[in-house]
Amino acid sequence: MSDKPLKVAVLGCGSVGSQVVRLLGEQADDLAARIGAPVELAGVAVRRLEGDREIDVPADLLTTDAEGLVSREDVDVVVELIGGFEPARTLILSALRHGASVVSANKALIAEHGPELFQAAEDAGRDLYYEAAAAGAIPIVRPLRESLAGDRVTRVLGIVNGTTNYVLDKMDSVGAGYEETLTEAQELGYAEADPTADVEGFDAAAKAAILASLAFHTRVTAADVYREGISEITAADARSAQAMGCVVKLLAIAELHDDAVSVRVHPAMIPRSHPLASVREAFNAVFVESDAAGQLMFYGPGAGGSPTASAVLGDLVTVARNRQLDTKGMGESTYAARRVLPIGEARTRYHVNIGVDDRAGVLAAVANAFATHDVSIQTVRQQGRGEEAELVVVSHEATDAQLSATVRELKGMDIVRDVTSVMRVEGEME
Ligand code: NAP
Repeated sequence: MSDKPLKVAVLGCGSVGSQVVRLLGEQADDLAARIGAPVELAGVAVRRLEGDREIDVPADLLTTDAEGLVSREDVDVVVELIGGFEPARTLILSALRHGASVVSANKALIAEHGPELFQAAEDAGRDLYYEAAAAGAIPIVRPLRESLAGDRVTRVLGIVNGTTNYVLDKMDSVGAGYEETLTEAQELGYAEADPTADVEGFDAAAKAAILASLAFHTRVTAADVYREGISEITAADARSAQAMGCVVKLLAIAELHDDAVSVRVHPAMIPRSHPLASVREAFNAVFVESDAAGQLMFYGPGAGGSPTASAVLGDLVTVARNRQLDTKGMGESTYAARRVLPIGEARTRYHVNIGVDDRAGVLAAVANAFATHDVSIQTVRQQGRGEEAELVVVSHEATDAQLSATVRELKGMDIVRDVTSVMRVEGEME
């Protein structure tokens, strides 16, 4: 046990930063024993000195000069909890240049500027850890990077956004519409006043990029991820899923295809028997499939100040111990350099609702449109009569491009009133 304290600078003292500062104080003795040296708070950078905070930070530690804090020679570890691209990116680069190791929970930044930041860490011979950036408190970065490093991961399916899971779960259990459910989620604090990053899938896409990079030892950035949010999901979609024994979830999907990967975020129906179907309310989970281990599921709170601080402190202990031992952990592993498939080449099954004329020969014509584009049909059923008549088709696996061409053809047919919904189906149906 060294007497020399390890100095930690925390950037940001909001939901997560305040909990990190609190736990650094409350667990000081245990942290010291685990790291092998006492931890000392060197400073806490914020945007404004005034204003209510969830914790009391000694006035002499609070500063608005984040750059000054990260460039101090005596700071060993910088914990970045500001969020967004700038000044977070510049501050992390500066911290590494000045010899500090870095812990960050910033998914948007890691997903967008990861390659530059990992290179800077490599050049500096320092750690850059980001467990909290992938799924909040759920340990998934370390399992993918270390525990499964000897296996071959083939697929990662994640429910990695609490807001959208809460909304979809309520639409499923209460039967309410999207807008109404989102408003309720905002009132209860499950959704932000501006919910765009969550409901349009940007947050999940950043996490999908991080998970895919780790799982497949390649570089995937947020821009590579195909993204659809949940704002078009209707109460009717939720009912259709129920009729099929399914539930609608917003999924982050990363799949290995020979030398390429498919990475996408979109709503999908999954059978109620799938482990991810049981992930309710704002909880998150990541379901991993690999050759040797088979199926694994990681479950827990994907957000929240205190849960996220748990993952941040786990990283802090690791990078601090590495410094004590004068070593560094595994860096980024991107040796495989796989191509990212365009969405048109992604293969899945589809559930398609088609409003049709209620007369003989319609079924054959619709089936023919699917066959023309080589999309084979698993099941078809009619619901409603007369003006309400609908065919509900579930296809076997096909590419997105094949399905899009089928839908275009269906929409041009006289007997088709409209294609009222198209939803992907993931997971084996019983
Ligand atoms: P937050 O509550 O908005 O707090 C942000 C903090 O950064 C505030 O203390 C703010 O100062 C400070 N800040 C903003 N601009 C700054 C600047 N230019 N210089 C210095 N400080 C600045 O954010 P959060 O929810 O804690 O999230 C922090 C990070 O954790 C983000 O990357 C987020 O994606 C990630 N994360 C959050 C959660 C979660 O549940 N909240 C979960 C997983 C990951 P003031 O206090 O003076 O405004």
